[in-house]
Amino acid sequence: MQKETLAIHSGYVKDSQRTMAVPIYQTTAYDFGTADFAASSFNLQQGTDNVYTRVGNPTTAIFEKRFAQLENGSGALAVSSGMSAIFNSILNVAESGDNIISSAQLYGGTITLFTHTLKRLGIHVKYFNINNPDEILNLIDDKTKAIFFETLSNPSIALSDIEEIVKIADQNNIITIVDNTVATPILCNPIDFGVDVVIHSASKYATGQGLAIGGIIVERPNLVKKIKDNYKYPQFNNPDSSYHGLVYSNPPVDGILFTFRTRMSLLRDTGSVLSPFNSWLFIQGLETLSLRMKQHSENALKIAEFLESHELVKKVNYPKLKSSKYKLLADKYLKNGGSGLLSFEVESYEKAKDIVNKVKIFSLVANIGDSKSIITHPASTTHQQLSENEMIKAGVSKGLIRLSIGLENSQDLIDDLKSALN
Ligand SMILES: *Cc1c(COP(=O)(O)O)cnc(C)c1O
Repeated sequence: MQKETLAIHSGYVKDSQRTMAVPIYQTTAYDFGTADFAASSFNLQQGTDNVYTRVGNPTTAIFEKRFAQLENGSGALAVSSGMSAIFNSILNVAESGDNIISSAQLYGGTITLFTHTLKRLGIHVKYFNINNPDEILNLIDDKTKAIFFETLSNPSIALSDIEEIVKIADQNNIITIVDNTVATPILCNPIDFGVDVVIHSASKYATGQGLAIGGIIVERPNLVKKIKDNYKYPQFNNPDSSYHGLVYSNPPVDGILFTFRTRMSLLRDTGSVLSPFNSWLFIQGLETLSLRMKQHSENALKIAEFLESHELVKKVNYPKLKSSKYKLLADKYLKNGGSGLLSFEVESYEKAKDIVNKVKIFSLVANIGDSKSIITHPASTTHQQLSENEMIKAGVSKGLIRLSIGLENSQDLIDDLKSALN
């Protein structure tokens, strides 16, 4: 089945009430009925279903199944935010004394997680330039547990050469974790290019209207091949004493491994669970995701072309522009559109602030992926906490403006920018 169909139907089997809309199972817990059934549930003999909503919920399960299918994955785990998805997927493979290698072009929150919080936990992060994946080779050592990058980076709009990075990771038996928030599963499926784990902030395009915070982790089919007996990942190959010696890779429950361990160990213990109501909102969002991504992409390309022709604009970053250095990669990895995110540079910090103050349709908001267009000035907001050096590394200059193009009429948006620029 194609994505448009999967986004609307997959994961939901109607129960005796035959409701067309997916029901919201607003419950904390489930009745086990008998002591034996309760015991077997807690020992994971019933899979992960219906023990306690911290580790699973029927509405959330539909969102997870649907998202896994859209990403061509074998399993998914929903969590309370995109940051939680990143944090938990890294904690799932790395601990104190280990390191991960990450692209330097990242979402602002990911940079602070990596440079401050992971450091305090003893996990070291080494950076490579997304435009030069060969740098990874010199950074890998025995303690490297993951390679992390964004398919289409926010806010610097750099596009990664996914297959190049995966090749290096595979040669060294290291797990790749990709943040695919901006591209969405409609425009790019990293798993098709060999990525092991895909994470998303569902707070962006998945909800589509800026309605809720959430995140999701998706794993590729057959990840067990890379993990089983791989000395880098003892937590999957050695007995887990919190489950009477369960070995996650031997064989994986329902063929899923990475998200199963994140759920049953990390989510159980740290509790950053998605609420069933938010899962339901994301399910509504997914129904229109493919239509929206098409329109976001069409609008964004028109606006990028307009900005490029404007004399006060020094540079426009949008991967589908003919002038973009990412055009070839975009044709390969983003076949169905370039998404709604673009950035452009004006001469100064002051000029950028002036534009942000003058626009009328665009709202000044620290978000992306809304149906309503958004403007941000990273240097004074999301990237304010970064040092000048960190900003340059993240691809953010003082006169950089980021736009998240919504679903309004594109000519109205162009007219708004035109008057703000003057
Ligand atoms: C927003 C965002 C995140 C963080 O997601 P939250 O849901 O806000 O925690 C991570 N990565 C990217 C690319 C984002 O845009």
